[in-house]
Amino acid sequence: DTIGVNLDRTVTAHGERVALIDRVTGVRWTYRQFVAEVDMVALGLLASGIVKGDRVGIWAPNRAEWVLTQYATARIGAVLVTINPAYRAHELEYVLNQAEIRMLIAATQFKTSQYAVMIEQVRTRCPGLEQVILLDDPSWIALLETGRAGDPAALATAQAMLSPDDPINIQYTSGTTGFPKGATLSHHNILNNGYFVGELCGYTEADIICLPVPFYHCFGMVMGNLAATTHGAAMVIPSASFDARGTLETVATERCTSLYGVPTMFIAELAEPELDTYDLSSLRTGIMAGSPCPVEVMKQVIDRMGMREVCICYGMTETAPVSTQTRRDDSIHHRTATVGRVGPHLEIKIVDPTTGRTVPRGEPGELCTRGYSVMLGYWNEPGKTAEAIDSARWMHTGDLATMDHDGYIAITGRIKDMVIRGGENIYPREIEEFLHTHPDILDAQVVGIPDPKYGEELVAWIQLRDGATLLDATALRDFCHGRLAHYKIPRHVHLVDEFPMTVTGKIRKIDIRETSTKLFA
Ligand code: ATP
Ligand code: MG
Repeated sequence: DTIGVNLDRTVTAHGERVALIDRVTGVRWTYRQFVAEVDMVALGLLASGIVKGDRVGIWAPNRAEWVLTQYATARIGAVLVTINPAYRAHELEYVLNQAEIRMLIAATQFKTSQYAVMIEQVRTRCPGLEQVILLDDPSWIALLETGRAGDPAALATAQAMLSPDDPINIQYTSGTTGFPKGATLSHHNILNNGYFVGELCGYTEADIICLPVPFYHCFGMVMGNLAATTHGAAMVIPSASFDARGTLETVATERCTSLYGVPTMFIAELAEPELDTYDLSSLRTGIMAGSPCPVEVMKQVIDRMGMREVCICYGMTETAPVSTQTRRDDSIHHRTATVGRVGPHLEIKIVDPTTGRTVPRGEPGELCTRGYSVMLGYWNEPGKTAEAIDSARWMHTGDLATMDHDGYIAITGRIKDMVIRGGENIYPREIEEFLHTHPDILDAQVVGIPDPKYGEELVAWIQLRDGATLLDATALRDFCHGRLAHYKIPRHVHLVDEFPMTVTGKIRKIDIRETSTKLFA
């Protein structure tokens, strides 16, 4: 199916159920109303001359119009380019030109981001950009008006020209390890991925999914929106950008059954002093994903937030995104300490990155995946595509993992993050997990920096809990002593209030490494 055809089926089956609640704009639509709005935008796009294959950019924080644009472009086969709302003018310019965007739909401004001003700054250097439509501005209203006056038959004609293997979305990776790359994804890639994620969460039309995760990233738009619309469940936007208290309040007020987040979001929610005053009893499931999910945090999410059936997903933008997911009936150990098993209709193998040979079960190697979810390629970057996807269509993820005899996968780190100290391979992830067991430590990140004697040396960045007393390098090393092998004990400690983040809420290790090198090397 294409996304549009699938949406029609949802309306037939669940037309009177709630589709979207946006706490920012106050919007509340049933599926029937939602699709009527989507079609108005789709007709407006057609009337503006947008046709199948044209790139339409969206640059805005989470809000109802974002979701309308997602489905309206899918309906007519335009390729939605999701642009990170934290980008600045030069990054916007890069994406506009790299993806050859014809129309840009953007928020006028949000917090300190003056989107309209930045667009004007770069516009003359983006010759392919023909139209800019600003939300909260007459240009968006005009698009809707033209859409309302349009001929619905034009939509059916446009939809009939689409095939499930057409590109429908370009998503840039988070930029955790370097410059973001544009993954080109088809209907088939993302629609199936959203569907299976929803299946494994057990979604039905009774589910209400709270989505504080950004839509510009797969986590929001595929695991959130597409998982919801393929099952007739409701999407809830608690706030335009993440806010722990607003999220908890939304879960309580809207009686959400599912809550998403990257680990840092759940850590912030669990640290809310008022956590226990919110009625979270409606929560059943949810997803933690995007970066390593500490076991301790998973346990607290289950115990303190009541998310009995919470899942961990592992994946990447290039694989639409989910490759593995924990199942509701997995043991508590598997549900907290692994990222689950391979998803339906996908394959995974763990290989030695140097020889390419599959390693024995239990040994670490590079995780490779194959199946319906693997992207069409990086947009206009055939060289990078060929480096990532081999001739047998295996996607090489750059992640280090182990697979046990029952097929459970544990992510041990990224190839780029692995530290080699005095000839020993060290996976920072293992040390971070250990540091989480210290009662004063809220979060910890470990990186390697160049060292003349050992090749590399370990630095731990520590975020202390409120009211915790000063923890210095000596105290930390004492805590580790006897519990971690000596070569895994961090040499340097750096206390911070927060970590450098990508807007997806991921910690930018590359920045931590750079700063640490300046501080300690
Ligand atoms: P870039 O590719 O630009 O450096 P990125 O890899 O962070 O950025 P994404 O595609 O958003 O961009 O993230 C995918 C990566 O996130 C995976 O390759 C993996 O390293 C990490 N990841 C995702 N889910 C998990 C998880 N559950 N546990 C551990 N790591 C995870
Ligand atoms: Mg990546």
